[in-house]
Amino acid sequence: MMVAQGHPGHPGHPGAGHPHGHPGGHPGAMSNTANPRRSYRPGAGVAARAYEERTGIKAPRIVAWEITRSCNLACAHCRAAAHCKPYPGELTLDECKRVMDDIASITDPILILTGGEPLMRPDIWDIIDYAHEKGLHPVIGTNGTLIDDSVAAKIADHGIPRVSVSLDFPTAEGQDAFRGKEGAFEETLEGIRNLRAHGVGVQVNTTITKMNNGLVDDMHSLALEAGAEAFHPFLLVPTGRGEDLVDVELTPDEYEEVLTWAYRCQKTSPMHFKPTDAPQYYRIIRQQAALEGVEVTPETYGMEAMTRGCLGGITFVFISHVGDVQPCGYFDMQQGNVKERPFSDIWTNSPVFADLRDYGRLRGKCGACEYKRVCGGCRARALAATGDYLAEEPYCAYVPRRVCQLVLDEIQSGFPVEDDPCAVLAARLGLTRSTVLAAIESMRAEGTVRRMGASFSSPKLGFKSSLCAMAVHGDEAEIDRVAALVSAHPEVTHNYLRNACYNVWFTVITPDDKSRKRLIETIVAETGCDDCLDLPSTALYKIRVDFSGRKAETAPAALDDEATGFDPDDPFDVELVRWAQGDVSVEDPYGEAAAKMTDRLGRHVTSEQVIERIREWKALGVVRRFGAMVKHQNMGYAFNGMTAWDIEPGRLDEIGAAFAATSFVSHCYARPRHDSWPYNFYAMVHGKTQQELDDQVAALSALAGATPKVLVSTKEFKKASPVYFE
Ligand code: SF4
Ligand code: SF4
Repeated sequence: MMVAQGHPGHPGHPGAGHPHGHPGGHPGAMSNTANPRRSYRPGAGVAARAYEERTGIKAPRIVAWEITRSCNLACAHCRAAAHCKPYPGELTLDECKRVMDDIASITDPILILTGGEPLMRPDIWDIIDYAHEKGLHPVIGTNGTLIDDSVAAKIADHGIPRVSVSLDFPTAEGQDAFRGKEGAFEETLEGIRNLRAHGVGVQVNTTITKMNNGLVDDMHSLALEAGAEAFHPFLLVPTGRGEDLVDVELTPDEYEEVLTWAYRCQKTSPMHFKPTDAPQYYRIIRQQAALEGVEVTPETYGMEAMTRGCLGGITFVFISHVGDVQPCGYFDMQQGNVKERPFSDIWTNSPVFADLRDYGRLRGKCGACEYKRVCGGCRARALAATGDYLAEEPYCAYVPRRVCQLVLDEIQSGFPVEDDPCAVLAARLGLTRSTVLAAIESMRAEGTVRRMGASFSSPKLGFKSSLCAMAVHGDEAEIDRVAALVSAHPEVTHNYLRNACYNVWFTVITPDDKSRKRLIETIVAETGCDDCLDLPSTALYKIRVDFSGRKAETAPAALDDEATGFDPDDPFDVELVRWAQGDVSVEDPYGEAAAKMTDRLGRHVTSEQVIERIREWKALGVVRRFGAMVKHQNMGYAFNGMTAWDIEPGRLDEIGAAFAATSFVSHCYARPRHDSWPYNFYAMVHGKTQQELDDQVAALSALAGATPKVLVSTKEFKKASPVYFE
């Protein structure tokens, strides 16, 4: 994997390439009392403080510097490796010194000397000494194969506290094949041993791909046995020199698994453990900690609580072998060249860096994400995938809460009846199509979205609906017995226990009044409960099962009982209802409908025909809503009340209109009174708290000049969408 040429650097373990990682850990403090050079806080010295005060910009804390592209190995997939001579345009020692002078004028960072193989550069010791002289903190990222005893001694003598070494496989077979050199595995381990013998700390960098994904435990064990102080799994960024590895790139879900493994492994590992090029890790830390009931603070999680995922252009920067400055080695947009402009000028004035430093400029789901300050997504992956480095990270499986809410608001009030509806939604919301799909699927999985499909007007399809209520006497077991018998009828769509003398409330949908009466008679006979109210609506003032809080689609203030727009004798119409009454796919719903209808009707149906008919039905009120049917409890509306009112008949329409105009009434109907039940008007209200519900009821009471009976559902026996045609 990108071995020899090194990953051009990353905050936290830069340099590596990954081979050559940042041996300095992260930009926090390093200390070793035996060696005064080892105690420092990078990027926090006098020059850095003065720079930050002067410009309002953070000074770089880590600079990854590809001091050569030369390499002694020819690793698999590393297009740029494969030769040992200096590459054209590499900086001379004098040029390197000028760069270090300029860096030192604004900061005192960890300076990761990487490659290629940095030890191929004969003047590396001069570079290291000069870096120390200027107050910088040099470290080395290497493939480890050139570190014999004398090189290890030199590394120690030149004050290098830690070296990062790339090791991607736990066996000679895997590593040698990958490195393109027999014996490379053993040479790397020997290099590590030599470093340890001279008291130099070692960090093992492992790039995780599909090739070694199953070997992470073995890699961790190997690093531990070798005496490493730190283990940094790198998640491949398939850009630039990583492009050739795109086929072995993990999927977003596999990333989640590896990062969750890393989180758990860190809990017991004595090594400092830092997934790199994996900004989502900082989101996962917080998610896992929340599951454990722990808050992520410097006291509980140390530096992990203080840093963030992607630091490219923020406190981390990469300089290429020819002097190009980029946010990181994978971010293929150079911001200037140190041969032409001072590094400090590039760092201060690059508009791309300015974008990266302002998290408010992130777009797509990263822009809406509650974790954007601690994660930020990999900007290099966004750039490679979309051409927009501020776009959403394409390899993150997480769907931010706000994205779900945005999508839910849209799909409740109207899923687009257009070809590729998710693409339409994505364009509307500034998200990607895949994020919209993922948001809907995740809400389905958690139960917030119960069904995607049509909500039909039963009367327009020629069906009759009614609300029924039974007075069931007896204990809980008796009530459950009766409720089960009621729910068993497919015509019953909803069935609840409510706190009233009539305690079992259910809705029925039947082809006509006669069959409803027969059904009620059957239920009475089956249950033995003969006190059953039949409350078909006599007027409809509102029906809106949309909890977006934005749109108040109010149904016409008249009962829509005319069966217009739907032809029960047209097999096309019947088949379309049969499809739309179910839970439809969102990937290609109208194509799916067309395919199913073609199959069942034995003639070709196109998605355009399906779309056209649904649009007509929406216009005619046959389809009340095409979109998400939600579980309102999952959306925080845990307090629901059916208010029943005794209203003077002459005022029904006036009060119905007033109730319909409120944002919190979802359904409002007039229904007949019964001798034993004096109420003739019903409104459903939904609150997130009992107080909110009480306030809503009080507001309605003021409008009506009356006090309702509030029936609260205490148990849900059944909640199903109507099935008009089996
Ligand atoms: S959506 Fe973006 S910011 Fe949020 S966790 Fe994923 S990558 Fe990070
Ligand atoms: S852009 Fe990606 S590879 Fe570069 S520093 Fe950020 S997370 Fe790492």
